[in-house]
Amino acid sequence: MNNSNNVDNYISDEIHEECGVFGIYDLDGNDVASSIYYGLFALQHRGQESCGIAVSDTNGPKGSVKSCKGMGLVNEVFTPESLEELKGNIGVGHVRYSTAGASNRENTQPLVLNYVKGTLGLAHNGNLINVLELKDQLAYTGAIFQTTIDSEVIAYLIARERLQTGSVEEAVGKAMLKLKGAYSLVIMSPRKLIGARDPFGFRPLCIGKRDNTYVLASESSALDAVDAEFVRDVLPGEVVMINKDGIHSDMSMAQPKISKCIFEYIYFARPDSCLDTVSVYNSRIMAGRILAQTYPVEADLVVGVPDSGNAAAMGYSFESGIQYATAFVKNSYVGRTFIKPKQSMRESSVRIKLNVLKDVVKGKRVIMIDDSIVRGTTCERIVRMLKNAGATEVHVRISSPPFLYPCYFGTDVPSDDQLIAHNNTVEQIRDMIGADSLGYLSVDRLSELIKGDTGYCDACFSGNYPIEPPKDDIRGEYER
Ligand code: SF4
Repeated sequence: MNNSNNVDNYISDEIHEECGVFGIYDLDGNDVASSIYYGLFALQHRGQESCGIAVSDTNGPKGSVKSCKGMGLVNEVFTPESLEELKGNIGVGHVRYSTAGASNRENTQPLVLNYVKGTLGLAHNGNLINVLELKDQLAYTGAIFQTTIDSEVIAYLIARERLQTGSVEEAVGKAMLKLKGAYSLVIMSPRKLIGARDPFGFRPLCIGKRDNTYVLASESSALDAVDAEFVRDVLPGEVVMINKDGIHSDMSMAQPKISKCIFEYIYFARPDSCLDTVSVYNSRIMAGRILAQTYPVEADLVVGVPDSGNAAAMGYSFESGIQYATAFVKNSYVGRTFIKPKQSMRESSVRIKLNVLKDVVKGKRVIMIDDSIVRGTTCERIVRMLKNAGATEVHVRISSPPFLYPCYFGTDVPSDDQLIAHNNTVEQIRDMIGADSLGYLSVDRLSELIKGDTGYCDACFSGNYPIEPPKDDIRGEYER
């Protein structure tokens, strides 16, 4: 993993989602590049290192795909001119943060693969845990890889299976039998748009419709951005094929054990998204309510650390009756081109992104809600900022359970030696971050965030991995 250009990495210890995907098919033949651009813009929070768009004309010659990809944010990579050149009525788009594979231009997506049956454009969110085995098998039968991302292995498998099957959607289903891990895919073939979700459903994917145009997106907020109506979620284990006759579903890969990532609700997804019929905003409100029930404390104000702590803070306020306030102002304009401060300036770099409203917190006992503590460094700085601004007490409440184990399913929750909670008790962490009290959401109450549904993954908190994790931490291994 190479995060040297990611400003978040040195001003905080945030966890990152790997990617966001978007696909669209305009059956009336209108160009779709600008819709993909706006869809990716809405998914920017899922990946800020690189992005790309690939489009094709379903009425044109098979195999003619135009693409534009690059390092940086959506508004840094695309220009009105580059979008204008992307002519085509079917397309896929991707925003990326690397958890497997280096951060460089070769590894940007969508991948476009030319093979005897035509062309595939593919965008992937997730991480495979058997990628090394699959890559070896393919390499020994002649495959040559141009990237170090597992998405290329998926594209190869689909292309291979397509040679033995009657349709590309069947080939996707056959390839899925070999894949182990997390993947939500959008795939463009010359005449079809395909969406697929791994049988555990780790990463979200939904379907939308605008007039005669079908859309696939990681989150429903991206459908809103292009004025598409939410149709439904792609189900865990489902392959959907969209062509001029509408949506066709294949559920033959589905299985009873579902493991949707619970941390999507706590942190990754946008609060205005609905994932698998649950509002992300409501689940954060619920997390705050549970914290107020389990860790009540006398205080004057409840404040959230932006952005994902805000809704949970609101929930805490609703439940406790303690006044909600805005204590932080966030600068959202810190992009990739931001000049990295020297190590000696780290303290001030948190301030560049987040500042305290002194008049709000001065002389007050403050309950501060954040979504997680990873290494503890950022939390300690924010607590200190509140105290320096005059808060008399700072009580920290965390809207997730303690991170104890790494994630292998498409996020960068790091190895346990880097997780403060793996090596310290809650009381020790409280002391390290300088808080007056500290309370985490209980693992036992996570299902309440998603209306009592039990089909979720909480492995980074509980160690109960839905799929046997690799014996060694293989993340980053692929490129070696
Ligand atoms: S291990 Fe944690 S971050 Fe990874 S998929 Fe499971 S709940 Fe999500």
